[in-house]
Amino acid sequence: TMGTIALDNAGNLSGACTTSGMGFKMKGRLGDSPIIGAGLFVDNEIGAAVSSGQGEEVIRIAGTHLVVEMMRMGKSPEEACKAAIERLVKINPVKAKDFQVGFIAINKLGEYGAYSINPGFSYSVTASEDGGKVFMATSHY
Ligand code: ASP
Repeated sequence: TMGTIALDNAGNLSGACTTSGMGFKMKGRLGDSPIIGAGLFVDNEIGAAVSSGQGEEVIRIAGTHLVVEMMRMGKSPEEACKAAIERLVKINPVKAKDFQVGFIAINKLGEYGAYSINPGFSYSVTASEDGGKVFMATSHY
């Protein structure tokens, strides 16, 4: 998945994600990316989050919606991403070693963070001179 979340210089949040899906996927498989609240969620009052990795696991916990709701309850973006990953691991402790899921998040203040189950998740941050911030994430597994 290539996921992007952005904060513009007027303080508005937006997001997008795209994926080719998993390798050797079943015919008709959707994955999490096209499901709002799973692969991507933006609430302009609170923050935005995007996920990458094993979509079925992200769907099970409505992952990006969970991240944004945890930011609403006061967690920082990184804390919210970490808490969502911990939820994934808790419900599937053995299998979690065998797949990758990563989240990135940003809040209205422009604070950002990320967390993944396993190494190999990377993201980049671009800040424009006018104060906007754009994040791109990708995972390799
Ligand atoms: N999240 C995607 C899916 O499950 C996979 C990816 O990270 O590209 O379809």
